[in-house]
Amino acid sequence: MVLLTTPRTRPCSRRGVLPRVFYFKSARGDADEPDEGCDLADHRVQLLTDRVHCRSPSLRFLDDVVFAQTGVRGGAAAHTECGVSWSSADKSRRAPPAWTRASPHAPFGSGSRRRPVLSYDLILKGGRVLDPSQKLDALADIAFENGKVARIGKDLDPGGCPDVRDVSGLIVSPGLIDLHTHVYWGGTSLGIDAEEFCRASGVTTAVDTGSAGPGNWMGFRKHVIEPSQVRILAYLHVSHAGIYGFDKRVMVGESRELTLMNPIDCAEVADANRDLIVGIKVRVGLHASGTSGTVPLNIAIQVAEEVGMPVMAHIDHPPPSYEEVLEMLRPGDVLTHAFRPFPNAPITGQGRVKDAVVSARKRGVLFDIGHGKGSFAFKTARAMLANGFEPDTISSDIHTLCIEGPAFDQVTTLSKFLCLGMPLDRVIASTTVNAAMAMKRPELGTLQVGAIGDATLLRLEEGRFDYVDVVGEHLEGSQRLTSAGVVIGGRWWHPT
Ligand SMILES: [Zn+2]
Repeated sequence: MVLLTTPRTRPCSRRGVLPRVFYFKSARGDADEPDEGCDLADHRVQLLTDRVHCRSPSLRFLDDVVFAQTGVRGGAAAHTECGVSWSSADKSRRAPPAWTRASPHAPFGSGSRRRPVLSYDLILKGGRVLDPSQKLDALADIAFENGKVARIGKDLDPGGCPDVRDVSGLIVSPGLIDLHTHVYWGGTSLGIDAEEFCRASGVTTAVDTGSAGPGNWMGFRKHVIEPSQVRILAYLHVSHAGIYGFDKRVMVGESRELTLMNPIDCAEVADANRDLIVGIKVRVGLHASGTSGTVPLNIAIQVAEEVGMPVMAHIDHPPPSYEEVLEMLRPGDVLTHAFRPFPNAPITGQGRVKDAVVSARKRGVLFDIGHGKGSFAFKTARAMLANGFEPDTISSDIHTLCIEGPAFDQVTTLSKFLCLGMPLDRVIASTTVNAAMAMKRPELGTLQVGAIGDATLLRLEEGRFDYVDVVGEHLEGSQRLTSAGVVIGGRWWHPT
């Protein structure tokens, strides 16, 4: 690979002028060689920092530079125009994940140009398109092409589209993102199968939070994420082997033993896998960190500062206290298990939201549900919602010990909030656009034209449904959301 460090003057076809622009050519020595059908020479990329490894076969080991998406905040390593993506140097890596191969994922903002109607890959007709990212709630058709959302409108002409589906009576939302899952199946005892879970849950992006640490990340990447048909992104644990001792008979808090804290490798692995790693995970609380208090969180925040990513912090029983954890979190960091029961609940026994909670939200700390086995109580949620304090993101924290209940899946977790009185559009926002923004992945969680073509079909049923929380309280609700199928990368994905 030869990097051409002389800025050229040829403008990008669809972008404005960038301050520092570099073109490059392939290792084969063909200057401006297109790669995988993408004319890289026609595009410009922005130099950000050092070290990159191009994931395209003919563009390997592009040392000394990192390219970032020109139109997206947060430095995701994908080219805005063409979908070819890069991540920093990890030369042992193989193919990109199946969902990136199957669905070019460039695109946010680049699909609005006029195009012939005959080339849609998929059209969903007559659904209720509900997309909080664009305040859209209307009966409409939606078309996908080349892995992206191509068009939304009334009575779209199907032309020669090979896959036209009548989805009337269903909600069409952006592909659901479950911001807290454990899907390192086979590599950790708490990991569940991502594809099975996503099929049942209407989830298109499962975000694994801390199942893997720097010591076992590559197995997760190679054996689970890359072959997966659904998108998997991850928060990397700061503890060396992630959550390794979480089972029915063995329960070892990985943050108890401070010698397992591995900030240097964690920073290196996170930096080298920016295409998949969206933040740093740490668990603090009596079960997860024993008497270590906030020390593991402090270490995680140092890593997050080093790599410029958010932290997701778990809490359970004190120590540390809810307030102590919140005090350390920075704007954009995520507190998961936010609506947990006493002790370490966000409310007082009198039903008042704690001051530290209110001030943390003002500061920009994000509150995630992370239902799981022990982290969500109706009593807490009722009090929080009564005080006008909705969660920023609703997630299942699905793992082997809660998939048979009380969490079950993501649509059940969402249904609980519907039945507690949270409006449907905000429930959908909490698992689409809000989750995408928490990860700084604005190309996800939206059906805007040009965004990644992920969508979820939901059925909203009326009736009497029984729900249960982690302390065994039952709630009879009148509504239930179920999954009726998903679209991933612009293609119908609902295998049996
Ligand atoms: Zn978890």
